Amino acid sequence: MYDVEQIRQDFPILSREVNGKPLVYLDNGASAQKPRAVLDAIQRAYAEEYSNVHRGLHTLSSLSTERYEAVRGKIAAFLGASDEETVVMNTGTTEGINTVAYGWAMPRMEAGDEIVLSVLEHHANIVPWHFLRERMGVVLKWVEPEADGALDPQKVLDAIGPRTKLVAVTHMSNVLGTVVDVAAICAGARERGVATLVDGSQAAVHMPVDVEAIGCDFYAITGHKLYGPSGSGAIYIRPERLAQMRPFMGGGDMIREVHRDRVDYAEPPMKFEAGTPGIVAQIGLGAALDYMSGLGMEAISAHEATLRDYARERLFGLNWLNIQGDATDKGAIFSFTLEGAAHAHDISTVLDKKGVAVRAGHHCAGPLMDHLGLTATCRASFGLYNTRDEVDVLVDALELCHDLFA
Ligand code: PLP
Repeated sequence: MYDVEQIRQDFPILSREVNGKPLVYLDNGASAQKPRAVLDAIQRAYAEEYSNVHRGLHTLSSLSTERYEAVRGKIAAFLGASDEETVVMNTGTTEGINTVAYGWAMPRMEAGDEIVLSVLEHHANIVPWHFLRERMGVVLKWVEPEADGALDPQKVLDAIGPRTKLVAVTHMSNVLGTVVDVAAICAGARERGVATLVDGSQAAVHMPVDVEAIGCDFYAITGHKLYGPSGSGAIYIRPERLAQMRPFMGGGDMIREVHRDRVDYAEPPMKFEAGTPGIVAQIGLGAALDYMSGLGMEAISAHEATLRDYARERLFGLNWLNIQGDATDKGAIFSFTLEGAAHAHDISTVLDKKGVAVRAGHHCAGPLMDHLGLTATCRASFGLYNTRDEVDVLVDALELCHDLFA
């Protein structure tokens, strides 16, 4: 039984007040709060077990290495990857996608080759591909979403041409909450001999993920949205693609031997993890994944589905609220503007006075904002600890905004 009140007790920050009101944290799409299990793991790692990892022969180094390397297996299990060597640990999705852009795409693509992207993408899954466009003449092909914010897999596949080398799509829009049928896209792309990168930053937080069932080549996640520390993360890379990749960053840890005239690289995944890693951040991520798995991803997903349905019903009941997108398959993320002159920043400021934390702005999704004809929205994004009562607080605060700005 999913006891949300009990679960809330695991998150110390949720008991604080903001502007004299109980905190209603609805900015999970940007970053999630951390359970005590994560805070304890960080404290333990630094207070009792800390040392640099790999190569050290002393007790603390071995212990740190063991704790750090155990996280690789936890990430693999969390993502449904049968081989933990397919997990490259990093600082998050941005680093993961750049690793693919520099390590896989740049050495393999030429001027005129194409990358298919959806208009739903976050800048992290856009800007690294612009680098290839600017520097190499790679062509970016954009697939528009439907009117309700859904992404039609067939349209993505139809955009693939003879020069397409990669399809890079989000699994869940951070603005509209749209869930994308990435398995259909990856299956179709694979049939056409095209590689696939899935941005799992949002989806992995809200639903069970199985990268092998999805059939993607790359799947990027970011730890701070997964209730883990900032600066933690990973990317799953299918073994065939790992074998094709060149290292993106050079330094310690990713080598076997270095001489004046040559360097031998370590085997993957170490080959793609240069320098001292985010040891404690990653250990914290391991604790976060344990925490989520303990609750059960199906249970988290079911809880958030009821929140989404309730929030949808209440928010769509406000006929002066312009809600962006309402795809059939969507997570508990709502972006909206208010009829009249109020800017998203003003709405967010008023909500904050009521203790409600939402995000306002372009949400690092420029092409989607252009598509919507907007410069900014307010976004309420729910997580595993949010409640129906918090939906009501949000709605009351929005009604206040309407009274103030209408
Ligand atoms: N992709 C999506 C869909 C996101 O929502 C985010 C974060 O907002 C990112 C990528 C980038 O994540 P990070 O900044 O942690 O690398």
